[in-house]
Amino acid sequence: MEKDAVILLKSKVRHWLDLLLEKYVVCAPVKNKADYKFTELEPGMEPCLSYTRTLIPPKKYLHPQQETLFSYKRTDGMEAQLPEFEKKTVVLGVHPCDARAIQIYDVVFGGDLPDIYYWHRRKNTIIVAISCTEPDENCFCMSFSDCGPTLDKKGYDLLLTDLGDRYVMEAGSLEGSMLIQHPGLFDRVTDADIQAKGRALEIAKLRVRSKIPDIKGLPAFLERHYEHDVWAKEAKKCVSCGACTMTCPTCFCYHMEDFNRFNLSEGERVRIWDSCQLFDFAEVAMGENFRRDREARLKWRIYHKLAYWPEQFGTLGCTGCGRCAHYCMADIDMTRSMAEIRGESIYA
Ligand code: SF4
Ligand code: SF4
Repeated sequence: MEKDAVILLKSKVRHWLDLLLEKYVVCAPVKNKADYKFTELEPGMEPCLSYTRTLIPPKKYLHPQQETLFSYKRTDGMEAQLPEFEKKTVVLGVHPCDARAIQIYDVVFGGDLPDIYYWHRRKNTIIVAISCTEPDENCFCMSFSDCGPTLDKKGYDLLLTDLGDRYVMEAGSLEGSMLIQHPGLFDRVTDADIQAKGRALEIAKLRVRSKIPDIKGLPAFLERHYEHDVWAKEAKKCVSCGACTMTCPTCFCYHMEDFNRFNLSEGERVRIWDSCQLFDFAEVAMGENFRRDREARLKWRIYHKLAYWPEQFGTLGCTGCGRCAHYCMADIDMTRSMAEIRGESIYA
């Protein structure tokens, strides 16, 4: 176990949270009817760190559903104002699939022209991840070599693993290590804790039963089966609601709108999440639409993530979180579609 690792008894979590809240905005999953959602914690609010998935991933703290890029005012010339960015934020209880998705976002919003809005927030955000011990039938993170129910050194500032009455906490950065520097609050990690962590993760891995085999060969496999009947069959069920993309931790598409005041001298430019599954997403002038039919839209979502993304970003665009299948009201599940093409079970 690393030097920067400690044990926090669950009976002391409240005290630790109170200390965090003195210094940071803290966001964490809380129960929300039958689901879970990441919420900013008020003093006294209890997070729920034992969960399978949240409806909307923590991407919303880095790339909000709607944000003002700038507001403007016409005076003698034109004054433009950038928005103020939030306080340092701890996002607590991020599952490995969502932490991996943030690493993918870093690539998407990085590059030669980094997105300043994203990076302001990213640098202001401390990721406290938690190993996932409750995967369900929609999870397929074990398909990917760099994913699975825990994280290996990268992608977090602090990593928690639930050992029943305690968490083992491992720092992955200086900022993470600062969160576990409260004398008297933490205990030393023992060999028994290390063994318990290993056992918990082995059990979690066994629970991830759904798998896409041969991930490396996937782009070529998908290209070969672009015209397979399964896509038309699944597209007939799709209602183009966009839920699969809005809930996806790696989807990043947005459109921009200008909102002008009636005086035509003031206004703001806002960017809003968009979805390639919506009819007008690929519509251009004169009503031309590059993806008019549902099959083209459905295939675009899956092919972009699993076949084209590696060429565009050098990584896959999926972490196997299972949201797209879990929240699809038409029961469309790309792991099942690919298994159908292969003539195999999704439990490869
Ligand atoms: S695949 Fe499912 S979630 Fe996605 S747009 Fe179609 S119906 Fe909605
Ligand atoms: S494509 Fe589906 S399984 Fe993959 S990251 Fe997005 S929501 Fe999760």
